[in-house]
Amino acid sequence: MLDRILQDLGCAGHSRIILPGDARFADAAKSVRYVVSENPATGKPLAAISLDDAAAYSRTVDASVKVYESWRMVTAPERGQVVRAIGDEFRRLKEPLGMLITLEAGKIIAEGQGEVQEVVDIADFAVGLSRQLYGLTMPSERPNHRMLEQWHPLGIVGVITAFNFPCAVWGWNSILAAVCGNVTLWKPSLLTPLVAIATQQIADRVATKMGYPGLFPLVIGTDAEVGETMIADTRVPLISATGSCRMGKRVAGVVGQRLGRTLLELGGNNAVIVDPSADLNLATQAITFAAVGTAGQRCTTTRRLIVHESVLDALVKKLVTAYESINASRIGDPSQPSTLIGPLINQRSVDGYLHAVNTAKQQGGTVLIGGKVAKPNGLGGTYVEPTIIRAPASNDLPISREETFAPILYVFAYKDLDEAIALQNSVDQGLSSAIFSDSVKAAERFLSAAGSDCGIANVNIGTSGAEIGGAFGGEKETGGGRESGSDSWRAYMRRQTVTIHYGVGLKLAQGITFG
Ligand code: NAD
Repeated sequence: MLDRILQDLGCAGHSRIILPGDARFADAAKSVRYVVSENPATGKPLAAISLDDAAAYSRTVDASVKVYESWRMVTAPERGQVVRAIGDEFRRLKEPLGMLITLEAGKIIAEGQGEVQEVVDIADFAVGLSRQLYGLTMPSERPNHRMLEQWHPLGIVGVITAFNFPCAVWGWNSILAAVCGNVTLWKPSLLTPLVAIATQQIADRVATKMGYPGLFPLVIGTDAEVGETMIADTRVPLISATGSCRMGKRVAGVVGQRLGRTLLELGGNNAVIVDPSADLNLATQAITFAAVGTAGQRCTTTRRLIVHESVLDALVKKLVTAYESINASRIGDPSQPSTLIGPLINQRSVDGYLHAVNTAKQQGGTVLIGGKVAKPNGLGGTYVEPTIIRAPASNDLPISREETFAPILYVFAYKDLDEAIALQNSVDQGLSSAIFSDSVKAAERFLSAAGSDCGIANVNIGTSGAEIGGAFGGEKETGGGRESGSDSWRAYMRRQTVTIHYGVGLKLAQGITFG
């Protein structure tokens, strides 16, 4: 199947990719100059992909500097036309690229294709944006002076992406950055290099055809050799990094040392509050999708459920029923249309899941459903059962404060809304949050300055599944970055304040006279 997908995507015979049927595969798989990409649904290798070293990285940046010097002078509306054509090509290739995401990242078909749709959506958004990179004008205090702000591109934007959104996060960053006049240098996760190659090839092919080669360079390498070189590189003024808080702290430290800019999209530990007035059927559906979708491997996955004590038993009963049907028959090969829950990305993630379940038990938690490795149809992949764990009556469950990248939902009871909000806000991360309530007072309290401390706060919608039109990102250890819609484009540009004097004789601000 992979051969056909690579062919559809125009990547068959790509010089970096060696397939298992190739005589060179065995040697490549043993070499430190290659990474082997595996299908998490089966545990079998998909391909060996050659790695860049620091010298190759440096050559790529040298070339990118030259590309940037001409791209920055192309008008923004013309840049918008390039992005429009790129979006159209992703639209055309949504199915095969979505299936490649399914094969390499283990996402179910709808979610693999949904990622490609996000690239299409952000391209549509960016075409309009290409005529709206507005600067303000402001009145000058000096006669015959005019004052305004204008926005210029930054240069080379370094984009570091996580395994769980191997295509869309590149799109959010690179499409906007391109319209803003930048070249984006992409360092993908080594768990998803095939999706990275295919994604980059699509964009590069279109841009090259329109006369703009080299706008979307790709470097695939280890964190120690290529990642560290990139974040320390002063030729890369902005590093936009998506991944764990651990990685973000390292990136922020190194880039901060050189006073570069960062845009950080890091871990989440997202909660849903359910108050007594909530529609429990709606809540059940939304929480189930947000907690088990993508096998709990979204930054916005619901990990904590904080329920008013009066409706806790009823809601938990509905959730357990929903989980029972999923665990009985809907875990499996993500490339099958009936599957709802695919595999975790690798054995390390399974170990993390089992560790969290065991720790929760030791800390007084009760497993209500799940908690075990799953073996659907004898598939060799890394599957686990979506799990609900009831916290002890004290609500003291330290493991719930950590982001375990797996489908585990911890349930807490509350009496008073402010107590629920405090519990929600008590973790280090601040990405996404939600309340289910039909009470205007409760919803508005949750949305007020005394409410959720997260970058995303939803009412009667789960924590995951954001639209590209809004600014996406979170507070505290989630990193503070904003990507995608609204005015996130400003992160990829530098602001210049301009004052123009068209009168006679020097006039100084603040009425100062000099000489
Ligand atoms: P990870 O931190 O292990 O890796 C993320 C990326 O950082 C990879 O490309 C990795 O190679 C790179 N990296 C790691 N150390 C580096 C270094 N020293 N220098 C340069 N690059 C380095 O994360 P992961 O396991 O791939 O992804 C899961 C994590 O990502 C979760 O914590 C999840 O919440 C987070 N995430 C956040 C968002 C968001 O928008 N907030 C979106 C997706 C994923």
